[in-house]
Amino acid sequence: MDLRFSDEDEAFRAEARAWLTAQLDGDFSGVRGRGGPGDEHALFDERLAWEHHLGANGWTCVGWPKEHGGRGLSLHQQVIWFEEYARAGGPGRLGHIGEGLAGPTIMAFGNEDQQQRFLPGIVSGKELWAQGYSEPNAGSDLANVATRAEPDGDDWRITGQKVWTSLAHWSDWVFVLARTDPTAVPKHRGISYFLMPLRQDGVEIRPIRQVTGTSEFNEVFFDGALARGIDLVGGVNTGWKVAMGTLAFERGASTLGQQMHFRNELDDVLAVARANGSIDDPVIRQRLAAAHAGLEIMRWTTLRVLSGEDNTAPPPAAMVTKLYWATWHRDLGELAMDVLGAVATLADQSVAPGNGYELTALQRLFLFTRSDTIYAGSNEIQRNIIGERALGLPPEPKVAAKP
Ligand SMILES: Cc1cc2nc3c(=O)[nH]c(=O)nc-3n(C[C@H](O)[C@H](O)[C@H](O)COP(=O)(O)OP(=O)(O)OC[C@H]3O[C@@H](n4cnc5c(N)ncnc54)[C@H](O)[C@@H]3O)c2cc1C
Repeated sequence: MDLRFSDEDEAFRAEARAWLTAQLDGDFSGVRGRGGPGDEHALFDERLAWEHHLGANGWTCVGWPKEHGGRGLSLHQQVIWFEEYARAGGPGRLGHIGEGLAGPTIMAFGNEDQQQRFLPGIVSGKELWAQGYSEPNAGSDLANVATRAEPDGDDWRITGQKVWTSLAHWSDWVFVLARTDPTAVPKHRGISYFLMPLRQDGVEIRPIRQVTGTSEFNEVFFDGALARGIDLVGGVNTGWKVAMGTLAFERGASTLGQQMHFRNELDDVLAVARANGSIDDPVIRQRLAAAHAGLEIMRWTTLRVLSGEDNTAPPPAAMVTKLYWATWHRDLGELAMDVLGAVATLADQSVAPGNGYELTALQRLFLFTRSDTIYAGSNEIQRNIIGERALGLPPEPKVAAKP
């Protein structure tokens, strides 16, 4: 595939840049650059208005097919859109779980009725989504989920606890893995995949205060909450396949947009290094150069992976993507602290005392990037997946289940 941009692509770039600049210099200047790693708590109402504005102008779900309400952009133009979005300082997206995970899953595994009911809310930016996978005893070992779904006429009642549920406190919907057959062996054969409203009786959401001092994720408790039978994706006890499909989206193509923001963050670190003279330190200089090279490698590798395949079904080679960007981003956080030097240990002096824990953007970046190598599959799990599924190495030994 030819990876150069055509004249048509460049015309699209000009259109996207002009639109973004006009909005982010104008009515939406307050959200410019906000809502990134460690800043997710910021300006919810303003960023929600931005989501609606993007939706109303056809700038959400740009890679989705037109028949599902997307913009149907080519891979090249998606790249351009994400580049321009980052260049313009577009805020962290509130709708990314719907756009990147729920929507593609519903397109791939949902029925027509589900597609018609759920996709428009994601495209318009009016319905926000959360991901209800992890539980206290089911993180890496997702097949261990204990949240149970019990039949109630045509519908289901969900009881149990999810944890680390990002943005649940703001979301309208959650996709939930729940056990519909407690006796199934192996365990993953007894799991189903439900689309559920979060704002209902029987759902309690408790934000978790994180090391950044703010709350991006939550505990979610279900106590007989309603999941409608028509909102079950992929059939009873066959949710595992759907769940793995969602994870493939999470670890693969949907990270393309994120990389463009990494460039801005690296530029911020570089600016500090230039300003405080640490750029003259040969070791810092070498690490900055390595970060730049790593970012370029990430970009071209992602393009190479995506360009050969239908991006709704990431290929095995996409399995390296999550491991690579997570490690790169974690290292950037550490580099940012080393570039700052001793001042990295001081709270933000320019902010009036509030909760006693004011952080600079780079400190938030550092603290939040500690989580990159954990969520969406930890580095250790990614290595297992690459070894077993991409390289065909022998599987890791399983500990025998207790009788
Ligand atoms: C910022 C953030 C946001 C998140 N958002 C969501 C969300 O929206 N929805 C959601 O459902 N979940 C979310 N999570 C949870 C995330 O998916 C889990 O934290 C992750 O899957 C790891 O599970 P765990 O925390 O239970 O750790 P564990 O699975 O208990 O793992 C603990 C340690 O053991 C290692 N380990 C485990 N198994 C193996 C193995 N087989 N081989 C080698 N090493 C192993 C792990 O790598 C890790 O270092 C989020 C997490 C974070 C940090």
